[in-house]
Amino acid sequence: MQNKNCNVLIVGFGPTGAVLANLLSKYDLSIQILEKESQIYNLPRAVHFDDEIMRIFKSIGIFDQLVKKTIINKGTKFVDEDDNLILDWPRPRQITNNGFYPSYRFHQPDLEKILRKNLASNDNVKIYYNAELTELKNKGKFVNAKYINKVTNTSHIIDADYVVGCDGANSFVKKFIGPETIDYGFEERWAVLDLILKKHNKNLPDRTIQYCSQNTPATYCRNVGRRRRWEISLNKNFTEKDIFDENKIWKFLSKWITQDAAVIERKTIYTFKSLIAKKWQEGRVFIAGDAAHLSPPFMGQGMCSGLRDVSNLFWKLAYCCHFGHKEKLLASYESERLNNVKEYIITTINMGKLLNSIGDTNVSKSVKEAQDGSKVMTSIKPPLGPGLGSKSDKLRGHIFPFVKLNKSNIKYFDEHFDKELVLLSTQDFNHPNIKHININKYKEIIKIFNNLNIKALILRPDRFILSSLQKNSDINKFVNKSMLQFS
Ligand SMILES: Cc1cc2nc3c(=O)[nH]c(=O)nc-3n(C[C@H](O)[C@H](O)[C@H](O)COP(=O)(O)OP(=O)(O)OC[C@H]3O[C@@H](n4cnc5c(N)ncnc54)[C@H](O)[C@@H]3O)c2cc1C
Repeated sequence: MQNKNCNVLIVGFGPTGAVLANLLSKYDLSIQILEKESQIYNLPRAVHFDDEIMRIFKSIGIFDQLVKKTIINKGTKFVDEDDNLILDWPRPRQITNNGFYPSYRFHQPDLEKILRKNLASNDNVKIYYNAELTELKNKGKFVNAKYINKVTNTSHIIDADYVVGCDGANSFVKKFIGPETIDYGFEERWAVLDLILKKHNKNLPDRTIQYCSQNTPATYCRNVGRRRRWEISLNKNFTEKDIFDENKIWKFLSKWITQDAAVIERKTIYTFKSLIAKKWQEGRVFIAGDAAHLSPPFMGQGMCSGLRDVSNLFWKLAYCCHFGHKEKLLASYESERLNNVKEYIITTINMGKLLNSIGDTNVSKSVKEAQDGSKVMTSIKPPLGPGLGSKSDKLRGHIFPFVKLNKSNIKYFDEHFDKELVLLSTQDFNHPNIKHININKYKEIIKIFNNLNIKALILRPDRFILSSLQKNSDINKFVNKSMLQFS
């Protein structure tokens, strides 16, 4: 870093920016964060995340604190106007391939506090509050960013190797990169009611229920502790005005709860949209999270998708900061993430259509008919879009399992590759640019190799498989070809 203030400047300290900062803080890099507000947005938006996201939280060292603030989510049921089950999406209480339960409920401000606390002792991370980004200039080998301190009304300049806009739905950074979006066509106004029960109420469902109706589509969420949420589609049956009329709210809620049993923590209106930015990168400037895509909340995947973005990007940025700018490596971020987030958004839209009773129960390819004729969905896990690695490699772009090690000085195999690429093989191998692990001492990994019928694998720090080598193929050629993309 020459005459620059930092390696990576993160704009926005919501969940996306805070997770990116935590991921980058694993390296010896200087990180700066601009946040225009003075403190955390203290009201919940996201209430759910999945196993893949818990694996990211584990990798940044917040699992133990966070898990105490979560409950395991049992799943979602879609019912018709007579409360008949039309689609079941159970989340069995079983550990998944990612090493955690399939789905968790949480309170977003709890997560954001933990993420910030985890950075507090890291001298490489500088956070500026009340600091609003107002100007960006791509200067070729670095980016020049101007921000205003909203308290002192003074402007300041930061020069950074890279800038990542995690600045939410009205992103300044997105406008700089190119404001055009792909619109997937779902746009609806919904009221969100967050309630806190005065005491536990066993009569309320302990799953999420999606009430599919042409009259009043609605969602009920069983959140952590005594928190419960109702989301209601605004139309002639429940109007924008009704949200300001407590009598109308309690009348609507009377199917589940009476006024003496809970307090309304907040009531608000959101416009749910389904958009993906056409461009996620311009030179050394990137966008991630809500800045890059917006999804209705029916799957609980908006924030999760943003965290997948930064999990894809952090190690690529770190690689470039350490070994020099690599165009192809960085360009793979947008192409790998786009298909993945698109599949979540399309599935969510299909759920939205079902909620409005204008779509069918086949919301994704993972919906199957059970023996009794009912429809059951399993969670989707879309692979990465094209990018690093070869299209003909069937394992490339899929996630590598989380492996607990029994007789080893490290507890989880993930720790071997949470910062850098790693080559796993059954024979010794030396390459100047990649860490190598001979897997013979890990019987758990040998078993995976045997099941997949492979001789070597290259794993990425975001847990995805970069490339795999079939038995009887040449390992030298394999490694040299895989590493070409990093030169
Ligand atoms: C009702 C509802 C329910 C939801 N439920 C779920 C769920 O269950 N699961 C899930 O995964 N997702 C859910 N989501 C989506 C989720 O809340 C968002 O995707 C997530 O909060 C986005 O995080 P972010 O960090 O990208 O953006 P934000 O949280 O919007 O953070 C952006 C930050 O950037 C700052 N900023 C903006 N402009 C500037 C600037 N110029 N300079 C400096 N700072 C700036 C802002 O102050 C803010 O702190 C839900 C959303 C809604 C509305």
